[in-house]
Amino acid sequence: MSETIQSVKGMNDVLPDEAAAWEFFEETVRAWLRRYGYRQIRMPILERTDLFVRSIGEVTDIVEKEMFTFTDRLNGDDLTLRPEGTASCARAAIQHSLLYAGPQRLWYSGPMFRHERPQKGRYRQFHQFGVEALGLTGPDIDAELIIMGARLWRDLGLANIELEVNTLGDAEARARYRARLIHYLETHQDGLDEDARRRMHTNPLRVLDSKNPQMQALIEAAPRMLDDLDEPSLKHFEDVQRLLRNAGVEYRINTRLVRGLDYYNRTVFEWVTTELGAQGTVCAGGRYDGLVAQIGGKPAPAAGFAMGVERLIALLPGGSREVPPLAPDVYVVWSGEAAEPHAWRVAEQLRDAGMDVTMHAGGGSFKSQMKRADGSGAPFAVIIGDDEAAAGEVTLKPMRDQREQVRVRAEDVPALVKG
Ligand code: ATP
Ligand code: MG
Repeated sequence: MSETIQSVKGMNDVLPDEAAAWEFFEETVRAWLRRYGYRQIRMPILERTDLFVRSIGEVTDIVEKEMFTFTDRLNGDDLTLRPEGTASCARAAIQHSLLYAGPQRLWYSGPMFRHERPQKGRYRQFHQFGVEALGLTGPDIDAELIIMGARLWRDLGLANIELEVNTLGDAEARARYRARLIHYLETHQDGLDEDARRRMHTNPLRVLDSKNPQMQALIEAAPRMLDDLDEPSLKHFEDVQRLLRNAGVEYRINTRLVRGLDYYNRTVFEWVTTELGAQGTVCAGGRYDGLVAQIGGKPAPAAGFAMGVERLIALLPGGSREVPPLAPDVYVVWSGEAAEPHAWRVAEQLRDAGMDVTMHAGGGSFKSQMKRADGSGAPFAVIIGDDEAAAGEVTLKPMRDQREQVRVRAEDVPALVKG
């Protein structure tokens, strides 16, 4: 026998038992997005590598070491499996001139790819829902993006998700802060790990994003961005906070929050939980006014966020496995020559009436078919033998309680099942 082929490391199958939780999650999120007037956009999973290098930034974890990048062997193109959706979404908006029609509220979802060390809540293929508001400059949209998050956690029944916010100011403020931070890091070189030492001069803000526990005290004592902020950014940040307070959304200012990607400015935020160990960030985003121009578009302000689907599903009440699996309304068992065409007709007739019907496949005795009916989770079995066929009827048998089975016409089944 040949060796079985396994999935690629860090890339998971979602099995049918777990898929019920995914469907619940996706349906809840879609309804919530509609409620806020966001429209779906679907982008390819494969993009030119340049798109991510130019948007996410050269000196970032993602571009330095996490991208699945390869050369198309047929034409030599340098391609990358998308590690996130914001850059693709902005690319699509530019390419199709979406912003000429005015500001756009958009969302996307799907798999993302990062070559990280797989562990709980961290995979090489994972899924995001992303929300992007393009062409809107004010603090109102930042607040909307945050406030809508708070509603989603309620819709999903999730407690214990907390909000952290910060501001990165404008480009000049960041330059001032950068200089001060480099000076601080230079004077504390001994406490820096290899990554931090390497990045200290190219991308010092990223050092604050380090997850190395040995560096946390040093990061804690670093100078704060807030002290270098420009007036307009400070005002913007205060307005965001005012809108959050008006909406009753609690938040904590975390001056160490810088986000791992290059393109953010002004507002940044993360929704975090303590229930997932080290992988505690379930949703992260902020404003990225420079990105559209950076990848060749006419300058346009933008803000958005992305949430990690696997992490949120892991938080669903009772664990993902307790979302009830989808069961059919009825399971049709049948046996006999005359029964066969009748059973097929009845199954379609019940589906016409809006019912979820699983038709027994593979033959076998009534007894073995009834075992399958039981295993399907259906509350009723529709039983069809030659007697039923001759009478143009079915036997309806309740599977989950002690009620008696009844002989009825097929058209009466929906009312009896739903009643
Ligand atoms: P982290 O700090 O955990 O590495 P990140 O800052 O790299 O996260 P973002 O790029 O902001 O993550 O992605 C948004 C969200 O997507 C994260 O908050 C997280 O919930 C989820 N996410 C990111 N990387 C992974 C991964 N490898 N596996 C599962 N979920 C992930
Ligand atoms: Mg990461």
